[in-house]
Amino acid sequence: MIVGLGPGPAEWMTPEAAHAIAAASDVVGYRPYLDRLALRPDQCTHASDNRVEMDRARLALQLAAEGRTVAVVSGGDPGVFAMAAAAFEAIEEDPRWLKLEIAVAPGVTAMQAAAARLGAPLGHDFCAISLSDNLKPWGVIERRLRAAAEGDFVIALYNPASRARPTRIMQAFDLLRGMKASTTPVAFARAVGRAEETLQLMTLGDADASLADMATLVVIGSSETRLILRDGARPWMVTARTYGVRR
Ligand code: SAH
Repeated sequence: MIVGLGPGPAEWMTPEAAHAIAAASDVVGYRPYLDRLALRPDQCTHASDNRVEMDRARLALQLAAEGRTVAVVSGGDPGVFAMAAAAFEAIEEDPRWLKLEIAVAPGVTAMQAAAARLGAPLGHDFCAISLSDNLKPWGVIERRLRAAAEGDFVIALYNPASRARPTRIMQAFDLLRGMKASTTPVAFARAVGRAEETLQLMTLGDADASLADMATLVVIGSSETRLILRDGARPWMVTARTYGVRR
């Protein structure tokens, strides 16, 4: 089973995911995700570094082929920039792996969690782009950012920055500033659902891109996204479903 753990808290993990983990003889994943789980002493854990997704996927398939009951875990949803794609990329390497019973347990992805906190920023057409250029060239990312701005999508940016790539988010903002209104609402949602959660609202014009780190999901509005101001509380960020006209 390829399992999504949700963005952090237990109440954002599906019962299916919890059952799959409880039923597993072996749990494979990035160490911080394994640390979040209350595993039993009889369950084997296979912790790894974040950068070795393909090795982790092969190990999980190997263990399953040996007859073990394996849960491969990802934060959020396993199909969104995560382990499900890695597992299916590896699966053709060994004919025995194609015979395995594999299922994917979906999870709440970071952009849904962030959107829930912010109001309804993904209420109309939106897209998700990972700024990580570990697996794709930066030129492709720039092309997609341009197309997303051109199409006036709300943009959810995953993997906005890391120690190895601190300036990518700044380059992305520079590109978007040349194409979108400077008043466009922008949200930085960090560690949503965890104790250290922070939510910051800005405009594209004055956003400080250096605030984003690997635990941040950045939401950039479309021309229809607006803030609903409230006394003494953070504004709601909303993208109306009626385009251009208000009913
Ligand atoms: N499969 C995951 C995404 C993995 S990519 C999912 O569906 O959410 C890792 C990126 O996800 C991070 O760099 C960050 O942009 C985002 N992310 C994951 N958990 C988050 C959280 N709790 N709060 C904000 N962003 C998060």
